Amino acid sequence: MNEVDVTNLVCPSCAAPLVVPPNCNGRVFCSSCGAQCVITGLELNSEITKKSNINSGVPLSADAGDLNISLVNSIKTSQCLPVNFFRMSRVVLWSRMMIPVYLFHCNAMASYSFDNGVQRTRQVAYTISGNTHFRNENYTEWTRNSEVASVSDYIVASGNKKYKNVISNLYGDLKVSNLVDVERLQFPADCKTLEFNVPSAAAFSENAENKMRSLAMAAAQRNLSGNNYRNLNINSCSTQKDEEIRILVGINHVVYEYNAKRYEVYFSADGSKSCVIDNPPVDYSRISAYKMIDERRKNVKDDHNGFNALGVLSIVGAFFSASLLTSTEVSTNIFGLVLIAAFVFGAVKAFKKAKSEKEAGNKARAEIDRDLRALNQEAEVAVTEFTRDGGMLRGWDIVSANKS
Ligand SMILES: [Zn+2]
Repeated sequence: MNEVDVTNLVCPSCAAPLVVPPNCNGRVFCSSCGAQCVITGLELNSEITKKSNINSGVPLSADAGDLNISLVNSIKTSQCLPVNFFRMSRVVLWSRMMIPVYLFHCNAMASYSFDNGVQRTRQVAYTISGNTHFRNENYTEWTRNSEVASVSDYIVASGNKKYKNVISNLYGDLKVSNLVDVERLQFPADCKTLEFNVPSAAAFSENAENKMRSLAMAAAQRNLSGNNYRNLNINSCSTQKDEEIRILVGINHVVYEYNAKRYEVYFSADGSKSCVIDNPPVDYSRISAYKMIDERRKNVKDDHNGFNALGVLSIVGAFFSASLLTSTEVSTNIFGLVLIAAFVFGAVKAFKKAKSEKEAGNKARAEIDRDLRALNQEAEVAVTEFTRDGGMLRGWDIVSANKS
């Protein structure tokens, strides 16, 4: 990290703390000595806003508490998180930026084609002993159809190369109604504003065409819902740009440390959405414990619900042997009885064996479930203890000092 956090804003001539009003253009007068002070970051914000003709945006509104909740939520579901993560990790950086973003209002006309299926009935002739009969047969008749869908929507595209993925993750579904006037953006004093470095045409062609095409596909599927159709294709889709708005959206960059390693996460301006750059740390001994449980489960014999081929065959054998009893020969009757007895004995043995195998399998599975629960519980207990103690990761107090 080569970013430097603003720790303290003081007057360079008398060292009195500087009061920075919201939406400051970077120039403030010291309340003690009256000197004019320039805060370069804020001056840049104001310059970029004017130069790029920016009228609205998404203000940075999340505080450390909001970001902590979002951060913990993005981490705690990770299955193989080290059990001591919440005790041992620490937030080491929180910086805020305003990223320039294009908002294109687009219109698209798409022509799509599909096979439309209609249920029909036909008569089929068949012959039985020289006589011809007819029966009805249902079938689907497929015909190729074409239709047109028109869609319109806003496309969000980062105006800064570096944050292309972060912006599409955090703001891909940005609602225009969530934008506020530039006067109400209220850049915090520590906030850095980045400049546009992606030309509008490039941002449009890179983002609009694909997004409008998939919106057209969704519209086509909506139009066809309730129909019996197949092989839906978009043949052509022409996208037009109706309007281009330039906005600034806030993002929060948070870095936490665990076991001497750093992990980056970005959050939307209000903290509600997260874009995880580095996956949370994993405990490899927990991973192998989960793997072992999986292996054990594979090794338990499949449960056939007691179905047993040998047992069933024996019953069938006994059933057929019963026909020997109807014989008038006494020796055949006796032979039949002996056979039945043998088959019944075989069936009882086979079913008993299947039953004991099933019981052994059930017992093994119950043990595996119990061990899996114990493993999951270790992680759950860590989360519960952490949330009971207030649920703030360490380090927030330091990184949020002097952030208004
Ligand atoms: Zn002063």
